[in-house]
Amino acid sequence: MSRTRTPVVDGWFTGDGEGFRLLGTRCARCASVFFPREDTHCRNPGCAGGDLEEVPLSRRGHVWSYTDSQYRPPSPYVSNPELPWKPFTLIAVELDAERLVVLGQATPGVTVADLTVGMEVELVPGVLHEDAETIWTTWHWRPTGERA
Ligand SMILES: [Zn+2]
Repeated sequence: MSRTRTPVVDGWFTGDGEGFRLLGTRCARCASVFFPREDTHCRNPGCAGGDLEEVPLSRRGHVWSYTDSQYRPPSPYVSNPELPWKPFTLIAVELDAERLVVLGQATPGVTVADLTVGMEVELVPGVLHEDAETIWTTWHWRPTGERA
């Protein structure tokens, strides 16, 4: 039986491979960009608000900060307590064009020892969790190997 690939959150990302993008929204009045997407009203306190349109965000940015998760988070975090905990690395990335900071896991195998502030990373499709029926998809940040 083949498992379905399902985004862990609807509407936050789209596409595959080179076409994979995070989806934010942009205020038609003040051009502020939001991620996670804001669909109700502009969060810019100096803006009276406008229509919010969906926009794909840049695929590249630079490491703003990072850490790792050395312990199993409590519920509702989904993990199998029967399996040993595998730490993951979390990166806060400042997108080059939007100047927004977006959190995400690093690609598997990347540890905090591999990262420095200012290092360039790119967005790639990733897997957050798998069960018998579903592969839950997300985004990961992968170092490009280029220095800022
Ligand atoms: Zn606005």
